[in-house]
Amino acid sequence: QFGAAASDAYSSIKNRPIKKVVIAGGGTAGWMTGAAISKLLGKNLDVVLVESDEIGTVGVGEATIPTLHIFHRLLGINEQEFMAATNATFKLGIMFENWLQQDQKYLHSFGFLGKDCWACGFQHFWSKAQQRGIAREIGDYCVEHLAARQGRFAVLPNQDLNHAYHMDATIYAKYLRKLAEQHGLKRVEGKIAEVQQHADGHISALRLMSGELIEGDLFIDCTGFRALLIEQTLNTGYEDWSHFLPCDSAIAVQTKTTESPVAYTRAIAHPSGWQWKIPLQSRVGNGMVFCSKFMSDDEAKALLLANIEGERLIEPRVIKFRTGTRHQHWNKNCIAIGLSSGFLEPLESTSIHLIQRSIVRLLQMFPSNGIQTAEVDEFNKQTQIEMHNIRDFIILHYKATQRDDSKFWRYCRDMAVPESLTHRMELFAQSGKVYKFAQELFGESSWIQVMMGQGILPAQYHPIVDAMSDGELTDFLGTIAANVQKTVQNFPTHQDFLQYYCKSA
Ligand code: FAD
Repeated sequence: QFGAAASDAYSSIKNRPIKKVVIAGGGTAGWMTGAAISKLLGKNLDVVLVESDEIGTVGVGEATIPTLHIFHRLLGINEQEFMAATNATFKLGIMFENWLQQDQKYLHSFGFLGKDCWACGFQHFWSKAQQRGIAREIGDYCVEHLAARQGRFAVLPNQDLNHAYHMDATIYAKYLRKLAEQHGLKRVEGKIAEVQQHADGHISALRLMSGELIEGDLFIDCTGFRALLIEQTLNTGYEDWSHFLPCDSAIAVQTKTTESPVAYTRAIAHPSGWQWKIPLQSRVGNGMVFCSKFMSDDEAKALLLANIEGERLIEPRVIKFRTGTRHQHWNKNCIAIGLSSGFLEPLESTSIHLIQRSIVRLLQMFPSNGIQTAEVDEFNKQTQIEMHNIRDFIILHYKATQRDDSKFWRYCRDMAVPESLTHRMELFAQSGKVYKFAQELFGESSWIQVMMGQGILPAQYHPIVDAMSDGELTDFLGTIAANVQKTVQNFPTHQDFLQYYCKSA
């Protein structure tokens, strides 16, 4: 029973101090939230997390982006210890294969491209050099890009590579659980049977199948796609983005590692979607993401099994989803974090980042003295802006394809996209300029790498570049590329560095 049991026995929680937080769900979202709230606010709060062993977690979500460092710093997590514990490898970017056309690939690295000047970005210098035939591949001007392609890695005291991780999500949740429990979080195992509400609709308690009643002041919905509190109880509503991001299914399987792990995620396009390969130290996460309008589960499974190497460690699992976002992420005294709040599909590994952003935002706006409408509105506004920007970046990969070998890719090429994305694509194609909001997740280097990788090349470059003669431009670019090469050639291989780093944890 969700949303059925409004009780007059309680007065509303609105405007009352928050003393007890209840987190429903113990996947990555639940445990990240639990660890952060208990560590940072736990002295003044009771924090309870309910999870069901019987239901389990979605079991995917193993590729991250560099912002995870911020979260780990907040929690005081040591990188070496975390990597050794979660079977993790380093990630320097994503290799997109067959996205523009079949047999073509490009890397979206986490690094910064070349050097800017006060007037314009590096792409303007590169564009002119390209027209003159004196440019190298754009990734040769970026340390992370070259290191990823050459299979090298290092953590240096004064020059940390902008990196993320591939990790075992199940172990990560257990790792965070330990941390949360050390800070006083109480874990309750059991299935939620009913969500009880005050007369005004605010949530008052979770009743478990065992009969246990867990009352609280603030409820965090981390129940995954089920969205038990935010949707099944509060009927918050969902904005469907499947016309922009049409993939709606995935099949995941894990295999034993057969080769040294690369320091990037592989995203390999196929006729009706794409396949991921996420290398951990001892196993590989594989998955087929596809659109059920153009490919059946059986076809996707057959294609996935044909494309993987190594012994299978689990049976393939089908996961269904609908891309989009909840109308409100904070509704009454419930905040949705993780898959319950929406899903943008896993192409740029942004879900864990969005979990972390919601947690930080909640900590910053924590309603200790009662829930205020303006704060709730601000939380929802900021979350929506963030979701919209990331959504546009992901759509770009599909829209700017030149593939026409299947109905799926023809649909993507011809689909209408948000005006905000059309503007960014046109601006870059016409002038080489990148339109970017302050504090947007994906920076200029990301937009440039993906736009160029997807075949959008600027027709013009900034006139200030003409202040350099061809000789000066050659020297300018040559010096950057030489420095990048010199830096990377001193790095050990990714595999050697991993072994050393995790052994000395
Ligand atoms: P879940 O893992 O589903 O957890 C839900 C929790 O709620 C579980 O503990 C469950 O037991 C509990 N629960 C549900 N109902 C009840 C009930 N009635 N009673 C008690 N407990 C209940 N993100 C990335 O950042 N990188 C990636 O590479 C990536 N890849 C992905 C690939 C796919 C195909 C998909 C679908 C997602 C991917 N994601 C990725 C997203 C990522 O998996 C999720 O953001 C992350 O795992 C968090 O999930 P969650 O905790 O919200 O939900």
